[in-house]
Amino acid sequence: MGFGGQAEVAYVQSLFRAYYQKGYSNPYIPPQMERREYGYMLFGQRTMVRHLSLKDPSQLLDLLKNVAPAHVYRSAAIYHYPSAPMEEKGWIGADLIFDIDADHLETPCKASHDFRLCTSCGLRVSSDRCSGCGSDQLEDVKWVCDICLEGARAELIKLLEFMEVDLGIRRESMVVSFSGNRGYHLAVYDERFLGLGREERQEIVEYLTGANMDPSLHGLEAGLEPGEGPDYSDHGWRGRIARQSYTILSRLARGDEKTVKALEGLLGHRIVQSLKTSEDFWRERPRWDLLGGRAETRAKALKALVALSVESEKTHIDTVVTTDIHRLLRMADTLNGKTGLKASTIPVERVEEYDPLREAVAIPAHPETRIRIAYAPRFRLGEEEYGPYSDEEAKLPAFAASYLICRGVARLAERRR
Ligand SMILES: [Zn+2]
Ligand SMILES: [Zn+2]
Repeated sequence: MGFGGQAEVAYVQSLFRAYYQKGYSNPYIPPQMERREYGYMLFGQRTMVRHLSLKDPSQLLDLLKNVAPAHVYRSAAIYHYPSAPMEEKGWIGADLIFDIDADHLETPCKASHDFRLCTSCGLRVSSDRCSGCGSDQLEDVKWVCDICLEGARAELIKLLEFMEVDLGIRRESMVVSFSGNRGYHLAVYDERFLGLGREERQEIVEYLTGANMDPSLHGLEAGLEPGEGPDYSDHGWRGRIARQSYTILSRLARGDEKTVKALEGLLGHRIVQSLKTSEDFWRERPRWDLLGGRAETRAKALKALVALSVESEKTHIDTVVTTDIHRLLRMADTLNGKTGLKASTIPVERVEEYDPLREAVAIPAHPETRIRIAYAPRFRLGEEEYGPYSDEEAKLPAFAASYLICRGVARLAERRR
């Protein structure tokens, strides 16, 4: 809320409080809740109140109703003494957690919707100094659109497949939630993973991201004979690389521009030309022995296919989150103070169809609120689209008004102080 003052805090907080009083029904409660650490942040403040413990859901509800915080967190870990100082908590174990954020993805839309505001006068700025008031107190505002969220969803779907197929984690052990902003979270509560330390979690991260992978350990090396090497039906990375390599060769045969460019970047024009007919031989099973003519070419082509396959099949997770065994993560089903949207839990079978910009709207439409908007690109929320707005007033449903205020791009139009 870079642009908001006390009146804006009071407005948004009253909407949050109303949600916790009426709308927060049947929320997600983490297993062993009494052994977790909790924390929250108030609107307009930067420090977290933490090391709290809560005995049962009613204590949590009381806290949310009374405090109406901007952000609510709980530990991935379970402790003997969750409210003790860090070194005395007595770590027992921790959920395996994952954070996917569109912020870390290379989506093509960012340049079109991210912008910079002057925090003094609210003008949209395109340089390092405000052209209106001369201030250099500027804030970069990161926006979110359907393309960002689709990118994050695609990563989540890959991650869930790794979890279910490669690691054998059951759906009942997984809690998927929208972050309430630009991404998705996954928390796995499974006895087999609970006690893993930092190093073991790092190994899982490396597996999911294909980091430090040695292809020869997956049967991928130069000089393979017919019938050798990973097959399409193989488990884990072997099958992933085989299937994706075939996809790449098919795209190349069709002359797909992006694929040609990516391969040429690694192999040069001549070798890529010689691979154009490889798809024909790959239909039944991968023919790692039939990738261009000479042995040297084959070795190079194999290496390139592996590199591109890994790049496309790996999951883009925030690796720091997963390896931090004391991490606090946003509590599912609470509101995110950066948007006013709900960090809703999503059943795994609904991940493909879930529409965050409609389903995570938890603040009502009433009261309609007149706000002064510094700048906002066109955005979709609920059933409708709004904007774009530039230095103007608008009367919006409460969920859209609070969305813009929380994002720090609007304030209340009528100031009652
Ligand atoms: Zn200014
Ligand atoms: Zn976007």
